[in-house]
Amino acid sequence: MKKGFLHFEIGGFRCTLIADGKHAYPNPAGLLFPGAPVDELAGELARHGISPDNWPIWMSDYTCLLIDTGKQRILLDTGAGDMLPDAGLLTKNMRAAGIAPASVDCILISHAHPDHIGGACLFPEARIIMNRKEWRFWTQNPELPRLPDEFSHLLTGMVTSLLAPLQGRIELIDSDTEIAPGVNFFEARGHTPGHMALHAASSGNHLIYVGDAVIHEAHIRNTHWSPLVDVLPDKSVRTRTRLLTQAADTNAVFFGFHLPHLGRISRTDTGFDWKQR
Ligand SMILES: [Zn+2]
Repeated sequence: MKKGFLHFEIGGFRCTLIADGKHAYPNPAGLLFPGAPVDELAGELARHGISPDNWPIWMSDYTCLLIDTGKQRILLDTGAGDMLPDAGLLTKNMRAAGIAPASVDCILISHAHPDHIGGACLFPEARIIMNRKEWRFWTQNPELPRLPDEFSHLLTGMVTSLLAPLQGRIELIDSDTEIAPGVNFFEARGHTPGHMALHAASSGNHLIYVGDAVIHEAHIRNTHWSPLVDVLPDKSVRTRTRLLTQAADTNAVFFGFHLPHLGRISRTDTGFDWKQR
């Protein structure tokens, strides 16, 4: 996305990917693929041009999705706001794409990690919708036993400070919800306890936005390698497999917040693969 945005159509829906920026994560193999067998991981990373012995930083994309149904502008996730040096470009790139931030009607939060809720305050007029399980998890002394203590405290502190000003503003939902005709926001738990994904369908064309249920391309071929940040790693494997199955079955355009481009999912003898759309 050289220009910071990319327009595409799903049937009658006008969709736009909007870059919020990037962020550098240290020790990517340990963060993304803890417990993956060394040989298998080396083989998989080689497919992506990465040598595991020389991979000090994962420069991850942060990209939000806007769906314009013709009646509603629906934004999926809000980027990092002003928290990180190389992110927080969402509203700037939105304007460059010809979309006024004030014209966003509804924001869907896939989950409450800071890179997804940091920009929510930039849309004071929009509805904000999140899973009640997600709100409860983060506002009731969450435990993140898979993360080192320091990282866990930092993350929890950031989330609670970002959620506090949104209290009373966020609409909390208890189950799968149709946001607009053909646009469904549904539970896809595992990365966090209230993680949500989106399915949009128009004129026989499908789009699936997975939030952080698939963080890195290599998780598409290796659904069982749950990242360290997944709170419920076993559930996250099942969710990832279900989303990829749905995408393959419907030939959906497939996207996630940290993925580098739009894709389509295909089946292989051992699982799934994807190609750039
Ligand atoms: Zn994320």
